[in-house]
Order: sequence, then structure tokens, then C-alpha cells
Amino acid sequence: MKTPKIFSIANQKGGVGKTTTAINLGAALAVRGAKVLIIDLDPQGNASTGLGISRETRTQTVYDLLLGQASAEELAKPTDVENLWIIPATMDLSSADAELMSTSRRVVHLRNALRHRDAHYDYILIDCPPSLNLLTVNAFVASDSVIVPLQAEFFALEGLSQLLLTVREVRETANADLRIEGIVLTMFDRRNNLCLQVEEDARANLGDLVFETVIPRNVRLSEAPSYAMPVLNYDPTSRGAIAYKALASEVFARNATSQVVENV
Ligand code: ADP
Ligand code: MG
Repeated sequence: MKTPKIFSIANQKGGVGKTTTAINLGAALAVRGAKVLIIDLDPQGNASTGLGISRETRTQTVYDLLLGQASAEELAKPTDVENLWIIPATMDLSSADAELMSTSRRVVHLRNALRHRDAHYDYILIDCPPSLNLLTVNAFVASDSVIVPLQAEFFALEGLSQLLLTVREVRETANADLRIEGIVLTMFDRRNNLCLQVEEDARANLGDLVFETVIPRNVRLSEAPSYAMPVLNYDPTSRGAIAYKALASEVFARNATSQVVENV
């Protein structure tokens, strides 16, 4: 029986590449033959849009998952990428904080919804909202580990320490096994000295936690969502596509266990 690896893709800052990483890392893992489910946990629903799930078809969403009204398999929608599914989000999710989250069990909704880990998937990637709110905490409680996209800019590392503090709190309270899978530098520009400095600081301070793969700033990555596809489909030879394939290889290697058979 399969046990999916569950990753939260999180950073409380908006616009750092969380959704881009969820879509393209997800697609790159799926292309390797793994079965991948993306859970869109951001009320903005960018991952859903970027994978071509139109708003009209989002009748059942991640909100139903949190409420325990439907299972992940029932809610997962197929995408144009083989082996890649998504549970979409709508703005309704922004009221989840108020409704669902007022009970004492408020941090375990998502974990409970995913507790049938005998699911069809090898990987579940949770695209978190740009906040360390209860939705993100729900994601952390449900996850094996956290992938942090970090935009190489001033103050990036300060924001990171806040996030690591939340991870520590979740470890102490609801999910002792939560790990940091890795920190991935995004929108990287090698000609920019500040980028290089942030990379140097991150590697010096965080060592192996920083993925070797760096995601370059690449216009193809920003264009792909408007064509409702991952960059691997939109422009497979772009620098963005190559970088996300390399990131998938690293994630794959870090998690290479008997449950996933490499078939490429
Ligand atoms: P988040 O989910 O953290 O808010 P997004 O993944 O939505 O961030 O990225 C924010 C914006 O930057 C989007 O318009 C996206 O297309 C663009 N973007 C993300 N990563 C890259 C990149 N490596 N190169 C160029 N544009 C990028
Ligand atoms: Mg996003």
C-alpha cells in the first residue's frame, strides 16, 4: 500500500514562487512517473487557474475537503498532464478561517481529511497562502515536510526565521515529525549581486537545507499559467523547465524509497 509524501509549499510572503513551484515541481514529478496531487490551499486559487481548472467547474473544492465532506480522491480533478491532479480552491476558502477554525480541533482538519494515506498518490503538494495563518498551520500539521521557495532579495532570510519558528511550534504541538524538506532559491538572477549575496548567506547559514537547484528568473515560467499549463508543457526546453526538472530530481533523490519506483 502506498504512502504519499506530503509537502507544504510555504512562505508567508506573497509573490515568491510558491504557486509556480507547486505547479512545476508537481508536473516535473508527474513526468517522472510519480502520481502527484496538488492541493490548492490559497483562496486566490492561482494553482487551480494555472492548471486550467476554470472557476465555473470549481463546484467542489478544498473547502469540502477541510469540512470532511468529500475525500481527496473524490475532489481531485485531472489536469492535462498525465499523473497530475489538483484539488481546486475558490474565494470561499477565505471564510474557512472564521468558520472551521473556531473549534479546538482547528489545526487538524486537513490532516484528518488526508488520513487515508492509502491513497493513489506518491506525492501531495500543498500550495499554501501567503500567510502563516490557520490554513498554513493546517498544511504543516498534515505534512511530512515543508518546501520553502525563497526569493533572493533583501530581508528574505528574516522572513525565513519567522517561518521556521512556526515550523518549530507545530513540531512542539501537533506534528512532531515535521521536517524542512528544503529551501529553494527562486527568481534568481546571476548578474545581480544581491541575489549572489543572499545565496551565499543562505548556504552558509542553512547548509544542506538549501537545494542545490536554483530556479532562474525566466519569462516562460510567468507566461505558462496564462496558457493554463506547466512550463514543462508550454516550453520544455526553457531554463525554467530545466530548473524544475532538476529540482524534481533532487526531491526524488531525497525521498527515494521503496514506495516510488523510478521509471525514467
Ligand atoms: P506566490 O505563489 O508565492 O505568491 P507565484 O508563484 O504566484 O508566487 O509567483 C509570483 C509571480 O512571479 C507570478 O506572476 C509568477 O508567474 C512569477 N514567477 C514566479 N517564479 C518565476 C520565475 N522563476 N521567473 C519569472 N517569473 C516567475
Ligand atoms: Mg500563490
